[in-house]
Amino acid sequence: MSRGAAGSDHHARKRFGQNFLTDGAIIDGIVRAIEPQHGQALIEIGPGLGALTRPLRAHCDPLTVIELDRDLAERLRREPGLRVIESDVLKVDFGALADTLCPSGGKLRIAGNLPYNISSPILFHLLPWADRIEDQHFMLQKEVVDRMAAEPGSKVYGRLSVMLQWRYHIESVLDVPPESFDPPPKVDSAVVRMIPWAQPAALDAARFETMMTVAFSQRRKLLRHSLGRWLDEQGIAHTFDLQRRAEEVPVAEFTALAGCLTP
Ligand code: SAM
Repeated sequence: MSRGAAGSDHHARKRFGQNFLTDGAIIDGIVRAIEPQHGQALIEIGPGLGALTRPLRAHCDPLTVIELDRDLAERLRREPGLRVIESDVLKVDFGALADTLCPSGGKLRIAGNLPYNISSPILFHLLPWADRIEDQHFMLQKEVVDRMAAEPGSKVYGRLSVMLQWRYHIESVLDVPPESFDPPPKVDSAVVRMIPWAQPAALDAARFETMMTVAFSQRRKLLRHSLGRWLDEQGIAHTFDLQRRAEEVPVAEFTALAGCLTP
């Protein structure tokens, strides 16, 4: 059989975003950042060939893993100490999973080297369950991590920054070069830590997302031209300064404004 990815007989499947970690120092760094402990309800998304899975399980047994690729899920079922959920993570109900894994009201910890082609959908899928989650550690494209953690005034501050910073404290913890994977991705990567805020502003996420889409649809324009009209349509008498561009407005101001949206 010809050689597959990461020294295995498995050939990486592009459609599943398969870039397997092979760099031991990076794997150690990620596990150190996560600090897994036995007894925690830790879930790994996309375990693949198990590069992170095995060191995580050494500290947290049993470990729950969610893998879409049937062949990889089959391999993982043969390993000890794993609860394997063979599924598309975008279909997993993390509320139900929290009820099962933490029956006495504890919280989930979630980690993974995510498939980059669906990383934003995964982040948005998890958002509604932030209050059932202790923390998230994800390997993502560095460019996505930069957007997630961006501050107002930055060129990459946008809808993703505001929507995620509303629910989480976000911190980039490790930069990872393409050579750390097999096959190497075409982009640089980074590991991000996301810790849900204890008391985020209570908002209707769907309407907030629409508001942010409108606000950032024309980044270079003053908000009075984009958001102003939308706020008028929503019947909001705002005292908000619209003589600014969306990229200058702090998250707390956007959430305060979104709090005025009628239910
Ligand atoms: N964790 C492994 C590593 O670091 O070497 C593999 C990471 S690879 C970037 C992404 C993994 O996510 C692959 O194993 C892939 O099969 C899996 N995957 C892709 N799409 C998925 C989905 N929708 N739900 C669950 N797993 C998925």
